[in-house]
Amino acid sequence: MPQLRTDGQAHSGLRTHLTRALLGAALVVPLLAGGCGRSGTGGAPDGRPLVLTTFTILADMARQVAGERVRVESITKLGAEIHGYEPSPSDLKRASGAQMVLENGFGLERWAERFYASLRDVPHVTLTEGITPLPIASDAYRGQPNPHAWMSPRLAKVYVENIRRALTRLDPAGETTFRRNAERYNAQLDALHNELQLSLARIPPSQRVLATCEGAFSYLARDYGLTEAYLWPVNAEAQITPQRMARLIALVKERQVPAVFCESTVSAEPQKQVARQSGARFGGVFHVDSLSLPDGPAPNLLELQRHNVRTLQAGLAGS
Ligand SMILES: [Zn+2]
Repeated sequence: MPQLRTDGQAHSGLRTHLTRALLGAALVVPLLAGGCGRSGTGGAPDGRPLVLTTFTILADMARQVAGERVRVESITKLGAEIHGYEPSPSDLKRASGAQMVLENGFGLERWAERFYASLRDVPHVTLTEGITPLPIASDAYRGQPNPHAWMSPRLAKVYVENIRRALTRLDPAGETTFRRNAERYNAQLDALHNELQLSLARIPPSQRVLATCEGAFSYLARDYGLTEAYLWPVNAEAQITPQRMARLIALVKERQVPAVFCESTVSAEPQKQVARQSGARFGGVFHVDSLSLPDGPAPNLLELQRHNVRTLQAGLAGS
């Protein structure tokens, strides 16, 4: 399987560039194939409406609700760094065939402004509408909304409802289908919530520290009583400073955290350094901002959550 991580590169812009270059070399991604040749009213080549999402996790959620009625594609590819993404000319060209864009909001998609400026007639729908954000706790983005609300299964149901409403506006004849699909998916998210509660309750309370690269687990940590620790609050400002590293090393030592982790879309190298200097192990890679390849550990949001919790449990238990 192609490696989607870009170990050894710390700068976020460089990471983005390299991730995209790696993906371009490693994968034949069909995501960019459709919708380019159309002009005017747009739509997919098969006649179905084309809805774009800003990243792969939203595409998965939208497909769960859309079923076969709507074609859903992600603007950013699998493995891409989504905070500092730089849209390509082909992204913009493809977007001209779309009839709707679904975005996360909470400041995640500042890079998408170019899309919206060039797509004046294409509505974009914010899927965090109705969610009260948790603020980013520190540094340059302090006080701004933490964008990773999809990491809470409970809040993911708000996304589902916003997707259902948006698709119904786009394709009113699909109302019954979208409602049924949304109900089924919400039941799966409820089951996932119960599953995560049971799994995480098995970790001794003193060990419930999730130490990773990005502060992307704030919503999950709040929902399941975990302490979150990270190297940088949000990938958009992923600067490695000695202070941040020292702070995390001190916390890992103080709490005797047996394992630290990182995410699939950024370099794990700084966190491996934390592991070496704190005596913790490097416990593995979480998926947060992107799904994995279809045959990887996180092909959809439900499996992504299960993979992360398994990785956390195995890392913390392996001490
Ligand atoms: Zn992120």
